[in-house]
Amino acid sequence: MKVFSFAAVLLLVALCFTYVPVKVEASENGGMGCAACTLVVGLLEQSAQIHNRTLTQEAEVMCQWLPGFLSGICQDIFKIVGPILFPIVEDCGSADIACNFITLCKNETAVCRLFPPPPSARTEEEYNRLLATTNSRSDRPKVDILSVLCDKAPNLCKYAHRFLGIPQPRSLKDRSKNLGISAPHLPTFDSDKDMFSDYPQLRGYFWRGKDCDDLDAAVHPGRLSSDIFGDMNCNTIVGVDSATGSPYEDEWCQGTGSMGIAMLGDSATAHFRIPAEYLTARDWNESTFNYLLPLLENEGDWPMLSWGTGFMNASQMPVGNIRGPMSSLYKHLVELNQCNRNDYQNMGVNGADSGNLVEWTTLISRNGTDTANPDKPLLMLFSMIGNDVCGHEHNFDSMTTPEEYLNNVVSAIYSADSRLPSGSMIVLVPLVDGRILYDEMHNRIHPIGKTNNDVTYTDLYDYLNCLDSSPCWGWMNSNETVRNTTWKIASSLNAQLPVAVNMTSGKLKNVKVYYPGEVMSAAINSSPVPKWELIEPVDGFHPSQTGNALIADAYWKALTSMGILPSANPNNQKILEKFGRYL
Ligand code: CA
Repeated sequence: MKVFSFAAVLLLVALCFTYVPVKVEASENGGMGCAACTLVVGLLEQSAQIHNRTLTQEAEVMCQWLPGFLSGICQDIFKIVGPILFPIVEDCGSADIACNFITLCKNETAVCRLFPPPPSARTEEEYNRLLATTNSRSDRPKVDILSVLCDKAPNLCKYAHRFLGIPQPRSLKDRSKNLGISAPHLPTFDSDKDMFSDYPQLRGYFWRGKDCDDLDAAVHPGRLSSDIFGDMNCNTIVGVDSATGSPYEDEWCQGTGSMGIAMLGDSATAHFRIPAEYLTARDWNESTFNYLLPLLENEGDWPMLSWGTGFMNASQMPVGNIRGPMSSLYKHLVELNQCNRNDYQNMGVNGADSGNLVEWTTLISRNGTDTANPDKPLLMLFSMIGNDVCGHEHNFDSMTTPEEYLNNVVSAIYSADSRLPSGSMIVLVPLVDGRILYDEMHNRIHPIGKTNNDVTYTDLYDYLNCLDSSPCWGWMNSNETVRNTTWKIASSLNAQLPVAVNMTSGKLKNVKVYYPGEVMSAAINSSPVPKWELIEPVDGFHPSQTGNALIADAYWKALTSMGILPSANPNNQKILEKFGRYL
């Protein structure tokens, strides 16, 4: 789903608001810069309150807890911003008002407000008077955080832009451009340019199977080969069975329906997640931000724990404040056939929608035409579950039309068919009914409100909409008519998926296309755990770790019951005994 604006805001928090997008298309009220300022200052204020420290002391402590070079940058920024900002916060007791004072928020009419009024302003009139007093001060300083940052840390400027690609809020009509993050979303460290890496982050093996030889492009996951002398497909199965004289790959894998998986999707496919601890001042300690740098290198995503390509357990993550079960289609595919080990590719990109599908098919490593070096077939999912109806714009016109959606999906099917090996499959995943988000979350307290029990999800949704910075106006909206209309439009898009199957039926050479229906929504509705536990607490928008595992198992069950998957490999036990467990 679309997370650009929100990711920006949250990562800004984590970065101690050291990064403001190069060109923020700020709303009249201040947009993301305002939201970031208010969140960071609000959190510092809460933490200062809890530990009975001044804001300056609190900022020093928080900066020390940031990892690596971020710590120094954070201190430099607060040395400049603190003396201007903190007296105002201490004076009026409101992060909202203080961020207005330094003009990051341009909230002259006090319409956008995250936190309730401070105790010194019990009524709306008092609050407005306080805001007016602050706004009317003639010496209001303009704080250009971006200039400060780029001055202090030119590398971070570049780093943030390169790896976060954080984004001016972009027009929904301008979809395929400016997705920003390390385009074209391939591994940064990839010596042999075979689209696989032996480095985990930066689109490396947390995203795509680990490259067991990054100096030889002929060695990579997904190859169909006998592997007599070397493990060409990196699944650890290699060598010749001395008893029979046959290569193990031929003996135990050939003809068993071995196949890999590729997920083409959005931030839900990539498993976008900001740890709730980042936004809960009372939970901050010296280890809270330990995972921040790898998380930035992963664009805020956790593909190694995602429902499509997860391969680790949350408990294996050394840090990162993540808990919950892990299940994935990849894990099930390996259990079905041990020859499928290490054969996964996650092309989930924050902010992507159906307009990106064709391009994503070109970024998958699979060659159906190279008969000299053949690849295995692929199970490919098109999983754009939200952004076609999500954006910061307050209207329905900017959502994808059914005609555009059908054209996007059908074009991507043909593109995949021309690239993939014969025997591959495409599974179409519909948009999810996002009304669950408001229904389940609106009355709950958001992590940023945990300290003083004062910010609900409705407050946050309204605030982000007020700033024109919501990742999804249609779902994250307190207006029921808006949410219902958004679902009506999403349903009209989903209705195109069976049409796409029919339109391409009989016209494809290498792939078969399936639409199993609204599996995800059905799984959510019959969840054995409370539904709010399926939703990420910080963004109130993406599937949580528990939600990811639930979706994985529901899809696996659906695909199994459709009878489209190969049978289990009868040689699994022998492979495990000879080559050990991989997952
Ligand atoms: Ca092998």
